[in-house]
Amino acid sequence: PSFIDYKLSNEILKAISMLNFKSPTKVQEKVIPAVIEKKDIIVKSQTGSGKTAAFAVPICELVEWDENKPQALVLTPTRELAIQVKEDIFNIGRFKRLKVSAIYGKSPFYNQEKELKQKTHVVVGTPGRIIDHIERNTFDTSNIKYLVIDEADEMLHMGFIEQIETIVSSLSKERVTVLLSATMPIDIETLCNKYMKEPIRVEI
Ligand code: AMP
Repeated sequence: PSFIDYKLSNEILKAISMLNFKSPTKVQEKVIPAVIEKKDIIVKSQTGSGKTAAFAVPICELVEWDENKPQALVLTPTRELAIQVKEDIFNIGRFKRLKVSAIYGKSPFYNQEKELKQKTHVVVGTPGRIIDHIERNTFDTSNIKYLVIDEADEMLHMGFIEQIETIVSSLSKERVTVLLSATMPIDIETLCNKYMKEPIRVEI
């Protein structure tokens, strides 16, 4: 298979080619077409599989440049991962001039508030700080159409499951949800059953 098979725009294909990705990885083969077709998907896979680009490519493709409110939210367990994912999404969305914000704890709230006031297409963040911004009305989630829960089992181990549920239950039901996890503990299964619509399941 080739990235050309997924009917991606030239901006996205150019970014993929600049990153030197020759062909999609196994996880990308499954996830890119599913998300492009707006299907929910549960991905059991490890870091190093190309999982970040697997959700970043279709999300960058689907996001509309001219909408002002954030359209995609990616939840990560740590600030390090949030920064990494932000960079990966930025690199894939660069020729579409997509704006990506990273929002995490132990960092000044006000700077993030300013960033969220500007046009941003994709927000990547850790659950606690994302909730703070939602509660203080500094993050408008009313236009979130794509939700990614990355390293879900890691978030469970860190005690974030209730926070994830608070965030997910506050979002519009008209959305696509992608959940990625290396393992599928029962609490993650329960979350999927509660908040995902007939998800496709892939194991890499
Ligand atoms: P990840 O699993 O998201 O942490 O990605 C692991 C590494 O694989 C990252 O350095 C990516 O830049 C790289 N990568 C992702 N997709 C591809 C691809 N299709 N071809 C080559 N490298 C890739």
